[in-house]
Amino acid sequence: MTDKKQNIATVTLPGNVDVPRYDRRALRPRMVHIGFGAFHRAHQALLTHRVLNQEGGDWGLCEVVLFSDDSLISALREQQHLFTVLEKGESGNQAIVVGAVCASLHAAVEGKEAILAQLADAQTEIVSLTITEKGYCLAGAHGNLDTNNAHIQHDLRYPREPLSVPGIITEALRRRHAQGIPPFSVLSCDNMPENGKAAQRAVLDFARLIAPALAAWIEREVAFPSTMVDRIVPAATAQTLHDVAEVVGVDDPCAIACEPYIQWVVEDHFTQGRPHWEAAGVQLVEDVAPYETMKLRMLNGSHSFLAYLGYLAGYAHVSDCMSDAHFRRAVRHLMLAEQAPTLTITGVDLTDYAERLLTRFANPALHHRTWQIAMDGSQKLPQRLLDGLRWHRRNGSRCEALILGVAGWMRYIGGSDDRGEAVDIRDPLKSTLQSIVASTPDDEARVQGLLALTAVFGDDLRTDPSLVHALTDAYLRLRDQGALAAVTALAQSLP
Ligand code: NAD
Repeated sequence: MTDKKQNIATVTLPGNVDVPRYDRRALRPRMVHIGFGAFHRAHQALLTHRVLNQEGGDWGLCEVVLFSDDSLISALREQQHLFTVLEKGESGNQAIVVGAVCASLHAAVEGKEAILAQLADAQTEIVSLTITEKGYCLAGAHGNLDTNNAHIQHDLRYPREPLSVPGIITEALRRRHAQGIPPFSVLSCDNMPENGKAAQRAVLDFARLIAPALAAWIEREVAFPSTMVDRIVPAATAQTLHDVAEVVGVDDPCAIACEPYIQWVVEDHFTQGRPHWEAAGVQLVEDVAPYETMKLRMLNGSHSFLAYLGYLAGYAHVSDCMSDAHFRRAVRHLMLAEQAPTLTITGVDLTDYAERLLTRFANPALHHRTWQIAMDGSQKLPQRLLDGLRWHRRNGSRCEALILGVAGWMRYIGGSDDRGEAVDIRDPLKSTLQSIVASTPDDEARVQGLLALTAVFGDDLRTDPSLVHALTDAYLRLRDQGALAAVTALAQSLP
């Protein structure tokens, strides 16, 4: 039984819960984080909390939410910005009450001006981001700023009242520049290739369009370190909140559950200070790119393969896919035979990495939904599946699993699964995708119509006849036999 009137800030928590052992009154919002979603709570906030638990200090976080409703932030404030992370492992669960957050701002509550003022404040040294790929307003993961994006169009017209993250960061930096305040670092923690460079491209492209001199200052002075982030953090469900309440003894609407595994590799290039994250096991390195590419292709690429094909086949969770021996075999092949050869990383045993991923994917306690991973596919496909596929084209090697994964996405955005049930598609390009689907009742034309979408496929893939043929073939197989049979056939064909 839980007591609804109490919260984690007011009750005495059970002794097995890991709690803040530092003086929270000493925290200052030196890091402002935009995107208080599932992932951030169980990753950057938790790791910063671990540093504080070991060494104390004043590196607090101010959480900024721009678009989601304000219920989560309201609840967070009611419990003095504390929240629970429940790490769910094979051998048991560990609850951690994170205390690193010391302030919060919601665009719809405090207003955009309060957010800009916080970002422009000299004590803000880092602005970190988990805003998903679409938050960068780029035309594709490798693209430049998308000036057709509605928020960007608004911000170009009203740069002092921005809506988009590139617009907000630029306006905050403009204020700092005007007041002679040194800039903050921009720390992207989204799953994108060279995420620091992507953030930099978005901000610089925007700034160049409104104030070239400011853009030159940003280019010279602002650090945009890239990061590789890794931990599986499914969106919280009623069951998650119930599980957490069982452990901490009280309801925590801000709680999140995740796997025990955690990795953060950060390029050690900051404009001002940073928390001593090494104390929490974070790897601070010269160049993150090889780690990022490994993770995007082997972990995220495999996730997307399982998400589209698994969802079509009726598997609700990644762990359901993994209990199908054929899916498991096919995804292992994708990792080791098709993605690993495309990587340049040294000093990492990729077979070991793949085996660890398979074990993590199979964790039944996580309930990571295939539907959740399938979201925003137009933004994810290039770095997760298409970059590897391009490598095979250049090398003249085979990549049936990558092709089947891409064909799986094409079937998925067609709008129904293999039982004919409607799919709830979430994607920033949804209306474009739907109009391509609606205008191409002929399946071969549909594959070509989708391949002509340059924001996703560039302009090289649609002109490769053998790739078009292979993708069409995979698409028709999925249509005629279904994903379960197609993945089974792939797994059975493997040596
Ligand atoms: P989430 O949906 O829980 O949170 C997303 C956050 O982004 C929300 O706060 C939302 O308000 C904000 N957002 C969405 N669109 C935005 C926009 N256009 N501008 C500004 N803010 C916007 O998602 P999540 O699971 O927390 O994932 C966030 C990021 O972390 C993603 O890029 C994801 O790839 C990355 N990531 C997630 C996991 C995971 O397992 N959840 C693992 C590694 C990396």
